[in-house]
Amino acid sequence: MKLEQLLDSNVENFDEYPMLYFQNKQFTNVETKRMADRFASGLKQQGINKGDRVMVIMPNCPEVIFSYQGINRAGAVIVPVMFTLHPKEIHYIVANSGVKAIITSSLVIEKVRAAMKDLEDQPTIIAVDLPSSDEVRNFYQILAENEPLGTSLTTTEDDTAVILYTSGTTGSPKGVLLTHKNLFSNAENSAKHNETERGTTLGILPLAHVYGLTISNICMMLGGAIVIFPSFNLADVFTAIEKHKVKSFSAVPAMIHAMLSYPDGDKYDTSSLEWVGSGSAPLPVALLNAFQARFNAEIYEGYGLSEAAPIVTAHRKNIEIKPGSVGIPIPGVEIKIVDDAGSELPVGEVGELLVRGDNVTPGYFNNLVETEKVLKSSWLHTGDMARLDDDGYLYIVDRKKDLIIRGGFNLYPRDVEEILNRHVAVSEASVVGIPDERMGEEMVACVVKKEGTHVTSEELVRFCQDHLAKNKTPRQIIFLEALPRNGVGKILKTHLRKTAVEMIS
Ligand code: ATP
Repeated sequence: MKLEQLLDSNVENFDEYPMLYFQNKQFTNVETKRMADRFASGLKQQGINKGDRVMVIMPNCPEVIFSYQGINRAGAVIVPVMFTLHPKEIHYIVANSGVKAIITSSLVIEKVRAAMKDLEDQPTIIAVDLPSSDEVRNFYQILAENEPLGTSLTTTEDDTAVILYTSGTTGSPKGVLLTHKNLFSNAENSAKHNETERGTTLGILPLAHVYGLTISNICMMLGGAIVIFPSFNLADVFTAIEKHKVKSFSAVPAMIHAMLSYPDGDKYDTSSLEWVGSGSAPLPVALLNAFQARFNAEIYEGYGLSEAAPIVTAHRKNIEIKPGSVGIPIPGVEIKIVDDAGSELPVGEVGELLVRGDNVTPGYFNNLVETEKVLKSSWLHTGDMARLDDDGYLYIVDRKKDLIIRGGFNLYPRDVEEILNRHVAVSEASVVGIPDERMGEEMVACVVKKEGTHVTSEELVRFCQDHLAKNKTPRQIIFLEALPRNGVGKILKTHLRKTAVEMIS
C-alpha cells in the first residue's frame, strides 16, 4: 500500500470526524483529504512530477500533513527537514536532494532564503502564511485555484515516498530513501504489535523526523486523531492530555524527563494516560521508574532508526516490561547480533545489531558507497551494539561510534550514564571519550545538576566506583548548564566531546 492510501482508506472506512487538532483549529479527515487532493493538483500545475523532490520545512502544523499527503498524491517525494537546522545544513539538503519546491512558513523563510543562495536551480517557494509575491506562492491560494486530484496512479509501493536526512550526529547527513512499502508496513506492523486502539494521541514529536511521521501514519491508519504542537510546551501538552483524555502517545527521553520535572504537572488530570512510547535515544532506567510511579502509566521503550522506517523493536501491552531493554521485534522485522566477522552471536553476547524486513531502506540517495557499507545481503547494519536475552528482548548497549576504548578495553558510556542518573543530585548525564596520550582515550562524564543540589566531581567519581569496576568509571566529571541536543532531543555527543576537550585541556 502507498502512503496516500492511508488517508483514502481512512475516509472510506470512517465517518467524518475531527482528525487534526492544532491550537484553536481542527480539521476533519474529509477536510484533510480535500486539502491534500487540491494541493496535489496545485503541485502538478507548478510542474512537480513523479519522483521530483519537495522539501517541507516548518514547525509542526496541519499544513505539514496536508503537504505530505499532497506531495505523495502528485507522485513526488517528500523531503522533511527540521526547521531548527542551520541555513548551511538546509543548503546541503536542498542541493543534495535537488528539491524542486520548498514548503515553509514565515518563521523559517529567512533561513530558506539564506539556504537558497548560490543555488543554480532555484526551487519554487510555497509558504503557508505569507501572501503570494514574486518570490513566494501562498499555500491556500494554490488550494483555491486547483480542483482536487486523487491518488497518484503513476507510483507503486516500491517507489520512494520520502527522503529523510539523518541528523548527522555521527557524520554528514545522508538521505535515507524510504519507499511507500517501507513506511506503510512499519506503521501497520507497529500498530499490530501494540494493539494500538483508535483514540486521540499527541503529536509532540517533530513530523519532520521519521518517528513523528510514523506516529501520524499510525494514527491515520487507525482512524485516530492527533493533537499537533508547534513546539514542546509543557502547559499545552498537559492541557491536551486532560482535555482529550489521551490514553497513549509517543515521545523521546528528553520529553519524558521534562514532563516529570514540570512543577505544575499536578494541576492537570492525567489519569487517562495508560502508556507512553519512548524511543530515539536511551531511556535511563531511573527515569522510566520515576515516570511510571508519578503518572501511573507504563513506558514502552522501543528502538528504531531512520533506515528501518523506523521501528524495529518495542515493548507492548501484555508482555513483561524489562527496564533497560527496548522490547521485542515488531511483526515482519527480523534481527540478529553479529561479531566483526559477521557471524551470529549467541544470546547474551554483545555485537552489532542487524535488521531485515519490508521496513528496511533500499539505500541512501545518490550514495552507493555509504549504501554498500550498511546494506549487505539484505541485512541492515545498524552501527548499534546490542545483545539479546533468553526471552528475545533486545538491549542496546551503545552506538559503535560512541564506544570508548581506554587502554585497549571497550567501555560503554551507557553503563556509566545509568549509574549517574541514579544519583539524587544528577538531572542528566552523558559520557564521552576524549583523546588521551597514555590510554588512547579517556572517559569523561558531562553532568547537569538538579536545581538546588550540590555535589562535587570527586563525589560523583566515587559514586560511579561504588557501582562499577574502577576501570569502567570516568576519571573526570564536568558540570554543564545543559546538554547539547538536536531538534529531536538527542544528545549531540560530537559537540559534547569538543566541549569536554576544551574544558579539560
Ligand atoms: P545519524 O545516524 O546521522 O547520527 P540520527 O541519530 O538522527 O542520525 P536516527 O535514525 O534518528 O539517526 O537515530 C537512530 C539511532 O538512534 C539508532 O541507531 C540508535 O543509535 C539510537 N536509538 C534509537 N532508539 C534508541 C533506544 N531506545 N535506545 C538507545 N538508542 C536508541
